[in-house]
Amino acid sequence: MEGWCVIWNAVFPRYCVSCGTEGVLLCDFCAADTSLDGPPFAYANPKIRKLICAWKYNGDEGGLAKLIQLIQPRAAFWKGVIKAKKIEVIVPIPLSSWKERMRGFNQAKDGARAIGEIVNLPTIDLLERKHRWFAQANTSHDLRKKSFAKNPFALRSGIEVPKRLMIFDDVETTGATMSAAEEVLRNAGVEEIVRISIARG
Ligand SMILES: [Zn+2]
Repeated sequence: MEGWCVIWNAVFPRYCVSCGTEGVLLCDFCAADTSLDGPPFAYANPKIRKLICAWKYNGDEGGLAKLIQLIQPRAAFWKGVIKAKKIEVIVPIPLSSWKERMRGFNQAKDGARAIGEIVNLPTIDLLERKHRWFAQANTSHDLRKKSFAKNPFALRSGIEVPKRLMIFDDVETTGATMSAAEEVLRNAGVEEIVRISIARG
């Protein structure tokens, strides 16, 4: 997927990902798509996939802005769940720090914050990725593999853990990442966890 994104990147300046009109990543006409179901949107939808790709792999924040524009009028379901379950905050699923460094921005945090503005919730960085090299000391290869595979996440220290929260990932595929994050949070005493993502597939 990342290779495909690089090729697509070569077509800057921006063109509408759907109809090709020059000037914006998604034109107003294509943004007014009434057939769009979600959020979460289907990752198989090329419009959604290209916007995520522009944001995530090309570092074009316009991609996130356009996704937010699509989410805004369709966020009633999320707002209902937040109210019903008395959700207090959004917790982004963190990228590994080397990915953040490589891309030069914290995509998970930016995405969670943008969603938070729509649903009126603050964002807190409660989770971090365990460092692979940290687990390498004094363990055999098998053990290391097991301990890393078990759960890649840990709680960040010094942050009060809320009882009711939403976890955010931009794209949910198998759900394994969300489940791992949930396990850490439940062990820390979180009682209610709701999953949200921009796309699924
Ligand atoms: Zn268009």
